[in-house]
Amino acid sequence: MNKGIFITGTDTGVGKTIITCGLVNVLKQKGINTIAMKPICTGGRKDIEFLIKNCIIKEDIDLINQYSFNIPSAPYVASEIEKTDIKIENILSAFNLLKEKYDIVIVEGIGGLLVPIKKNYCVCDLIKELNLPVIIVSRAKLGTINHTLLSIEYTEFIGIDIIGIIMNNSKNVSIAEKTNPDIIKQFSDVQLLGVIPHIDKLNKENITSVIKNNISIKKIENYFKKKKINYELKDKKYIWHPFTQMSDWIKEKQIIIKEAKGNYLKDIQGKLYFDGVSSLWVNVHGHRKKEIDKAIIKQINSVSHSTLLGLGNIPSIELAEKLVKIVPEGLKKVFYSDNGSTAVEISLKIAFQYWQLLGNKSKTKFVSFINAYHGDTIGSVSVGGIELFHKIYKPLLFKSFKVAYPYCYRCIFKKTYLECNFECFKQCEEIIKKYHNRIAGVIIEPVVQAASGMLVSPFGFLKKVRELCDEYNILLIADEVATGFGKTGKMFACNYENVSPDILCLAKSLSGGYLPVAATLTTEKIFDVFKGPYESKKTFFHGHTYTGNPLSCAAAIENLNIFEKENIIEKIQPKIKFLHYELKKFENLKNVGDVRQKGFMVGIELVKNKETKQPYEYKEKIGIKVCQELRKKGIILRPLSDVIVFMPPLSVTISELEKFLNEIYNTIKNM
Ligand code: PLP
Repeated sequence: MNKGIFITGTDTGVGKTIITCGLVNVLKQKGINTIAMKPICTGGRKDIEFLIKNCIIKEDIDLINQYSFNIPSAPYVASEIEKTDIKIENILSAFNLLKEKYDIVIVEGIGGLLVPIKKNYCVCDLIKELNLPVIIVSRAKLGTINHTLLSIEYTEFIGIDIIGIIMNNSKNVSIAEKTNPDIIKQFSDVQLLGVIPHIDKLNKENITSVIKNNISIKKIENYFKKKKINYELKDKKYIWHPFTQMSDWIKEKQIIIKEAKGNYLKDIQGKLYFDGVSSLWVNVHGHRKKEIDKAIIKQINSVSHSTLLGLGNIPSIELAEKLVKIVPEGLKKVFYSDNGSTAVEISLKIAFQYWQLLGNKSKTKFVSFINAYHGDTIGSVSVGGIELFHKIYKPLLFKSFKVAYPYCYRCIFKKTYLECNFECFKQCEEIIKKYHNRIAGVIIEPVVQAASGMLVSPFGFLKKVRELCDEYNILLIADEVATGFGKTGKMFACNYENVSPDILCLAKSLSGGYLPVAATLTTEKIFDVFKGPYESKKTFFHGHTYTGNPLSCAAAIENLNIFEKENIIEKIQPKIKFLHYELKKFENLKNVGDVRQKGFMVGIELVKNKETKQPYEYKEKIGIKVCQELRKKGIILRPLSDVIVFMPPLSVTISELEKFLNEIYNTIKNM
């Protein structure tokens, strides 16, 4: 069976060891090869000795107990005083060894769920890492309801499965002992496995017979008999994945993510993966960042959703105020939506309507850039410029003036860096000079064109576009959906050139990578044009159902608080330098044409022929192949055609960067 059960308690001294011991013996009697381990014990070794003696354990003691301390306190305290560092990996490897050998390994915990083992690491974190269901042991006596219900609630809350509750009776059975089991059943939906009477003489025979007669082993067995759901199969049956050739998807082995912590994702088999593209460019401080988790939960306890159509809500107000304070100067009003495409869609509609309301009826067109990506709705596709994604929709799209964005490695003007005279900017300039009377706005991904392969524009390009817009009375829309919130090394890419757009689009990392929320910010000047008497119909007739959703806004507020409190932008600078240094060696690889980096946004362009810059054929799926290889090594990346994208969460450490860049380097080298 190779299963495990974690025995935890509502408190210390509730009888976990006796129950562990009894369960091992009863399961053994039923022919199930069972063993117990107690990885940590404090206040001496008596529990370990008790288990070894009464369960007849013959395994090496190091497998049964990894840490024992004389001081009767929480392990965190005892280990500090006794100067022994608790290494969780030792516990995990002992458990895994036992799991290989036994049908069931019963792991006895220490105290309750929130007993600290190490700094920021409690018993519940160990349970999660062991990936075990729990049996909660509680006392039946007076005062237990609160402890038991809190333990149940917290266990469920953090996503740990509960097999059931076992209650221990004290010697004197009062009204509490008689009624508490029923109350626990009524107030939780967890099954009671049994109530055990007080055992006068604690020996192997007594314990075993009491457990056998009072605990429903059947209920425990049934828990393990529950049919395993094949999520991969169900995924393939029901889900249509974005940007995915589904006939490939259903043929290949797929990863189904179950949970995540810090910079790692964990699949349903328990395998860990480094989140190398920050869950599609959104995650900032790592997964399950305590502060953001708490902020969302706190908000759930107030209100999860209420509309901004006709009502306000507190988190949306607080977030708007915070955003206005940190974005480039001049942006004063926040219009919410829920993803990058809608943020862009809104920016286009606002820019269009702005000129219409001003009576400048001919200003109906946009300038957008070749290779641009602004999302997948029809408006944002209209201003997009990636042939592969956008070509087929041409008959559906409105026309925009497409001009060159600097793609220096494959300069369309055939210039080298030295010969460059900003020819791409000149093309933009010519179009604007000629058609400015018809142009409402220029939309740009400032500094980095992300989805086209992390194309970094040379310093000065953005500023020149801004000046051009000013000169010809055109609105500048900066789409910072990908670049915002530290990804480029500054809070916003516009900060690099001290540029303030007229409209700014934000999404992705706005909520720290937690929940969908987007914002389109405008100047007061634009906002004012939409004001007027009701009957003027100047209203911006646009809004999404979840606009300003309080949960998403609460996550975003906390995300911004962390940026401030933890000084994130300053903290990431050495990581960016290190990344830059490490990326240098990629340039020497024979199948790497170009390595581009701005902050945490990295694109490694693979080529078939380095001399001629000949790309791979589409059908060769080179990017996909590299990423599939990396998955075997525990790294999740997602390519953009032949460009390997690396964009870890800002919480990545230098040693993680070193380790995973090495893996990526070797994988590309061996392709
Ligand atoms: N704009 C830019 C610059 C993006 O990179 C993206 C997505 O990658 C979008 C807009 C669209 O965002 P979403 O996928 O949230 O609609």
